[in-house]
Amino acid sequence: MGKRKYYQPETETMPVEEIKKLQSEKLVKQVQHVYEHVPYYKKLMDEKGVKPEDIQGIEDLYKLPFVSKSDLRDTYPYGLLGVDLSECVRIHSTSGTTGKRVIAYYTQNDLDLWSDCCARALVAAGVDKEDVVQVSYGYGLFTGGSGLHDGSHKVGSLTVPMSSGNTDRQMTFMQDLNVTCLCCTPSYAAYIAECFKEKGISPDRLTLKCGIFGAEPWTNEMRKTIEKGLGIKAYDIYGLTEISGPGVSFECSAQTGMHINEDHFLAEIIDPETGEVLPEGEKGELVFTCLDKEAFPLIRYRTRDICMLEREQCSCGRTFIKMKKPTGRSDDMMIIKGVNVFPRQIEAVLLKENYSENYQIEVSREGTTDIFDIYVELLPDQFDDTVKSISEREKKLKGAIKAMLGIVPNVHLVAPKTIARSEGKAVRVIDKRKLSD
Ligand code: ADP
Ligand code: ZN
Repeated sequence: MGKRKYYQPETETMPVEEIKKLQSEKLVKQVQHVYEHVPYYKKLMDEKGVKPEDIQGIEDLYKLPFVSKSDLRDTYPYGLLGVDLSECVRIHSTSGTTGKRVIAYYTQNDLDLWSDCCARALVAAGVDKEDVVQVSYGYGLFTGGSGLHDGSHKVGSLTVPMSSGNTDRQMTFMQDLNVTCLCCTPSYAAYIAECFKEKGISPDRLTLKCGIFGAEPWTNEMRKTIEKGLGIKAYDIYGLTEISGPGVSFECSAQTGMHINEDHFLAEIIDPETGEVLPEGEKGELVFTCLDKEAFPLIRYRTRDICMLEREQCSCGRTFIKMKKPTGRSDDMMIIKGVNVFPRQIEAVLLKENYSENYQIEVSREGTTDIFDIYVELLPDQFDDTVKSISEREKKLKGAIKAMLGIVPNVHLVAPKTIARSEGKAVRVIDKRKLSD
């Protein structure tokens, strides 16, 4: 029997017109429901002068008010529940990367829908019943662990619920159980690859075939590093707790963007300044509407992630619209010396110039001047270089970063293993200016 290509073929390859029809039907119902059951939404809609009957389909979506993280904080902890609390069976909470944690609720139905989304992602990466899936995202409040765990169960793969950390044990299980698929953050995957290399275990001695990496922005350069280091194909997966967790969108064999699970999540790109909806193909802030979630039915939720949508015929046969790799969150963006800087741009330069993926950016201020430092770890073979050649390297790297950003950082090449490794989301930026606010 051949491998299955899709987890839910009828849905994943549905003609675009049908997807839109389905979305319209679900949207009308969802809006009616939240208007009647979530007082906070009723208030927002009343303030904007929009009634449920004004929403006849997805073409009316723009009429609805946005919801943002601050609304979630204002209504903490129960404010936006769409069902009675007794119908909820689980909570998850954001990692708090950018401030106070937010709590999201799930009914059993919501959990089923979410694990289907993760199962779609696994099957798209070539995972099937015979596979052994090691889930090395953190378990607990974070959505990464349980999302991929439940998805792997749905596929019927043997699931190894490792959670993050204890890297030696990760490596032992991977080898002893012939693990074929690794799920974790890209920075942790890169670290695991580094540890295998240190132990002299080459990728061809591993049974790993693929990995599903997400929860933080990563570049295509980083993808190459991981693919080479572990001898696998590395697939991207995107999601956020507020909308459910990983699996809101996922990459297929084409590896040119992530298919959004459009039967459940309706995506828009808006201008983050004006809130105006942008046409397909333009870059802006990603906004999601949950079409059939029950416990936490967010409508027009502003993710603050900057990205682009594209509906194209995909070689994998899926018809769902694709989102390009997010370039980062609008709140990850630093303004240094008046220039917009995303950590991801720096990562791309470093990997292109053959440095390690271990770096940290530090921004501080002296008087009114921004001080921009980048600490980059040398690879072990670069570390043997003479002082002279290291300062030449620093100069060259400065030039490459200047060419990308237009501003010149202080580059510090540091010894291998000086920068802390991450088992979850990597901390790339220390902005001392914000701390002193
Ligand atoms: P927190 O906002 O506290 O980090 P989450 O754990 O829910 O909480 O993280 C969701 C966020 O992680 C997304 O909004 C996005 O910024 C980032 N993210 C998740 N997956 C990806 C991915 N594949 N590429 C880029 N960013 C991602
Ligand atoms: Zn595809």
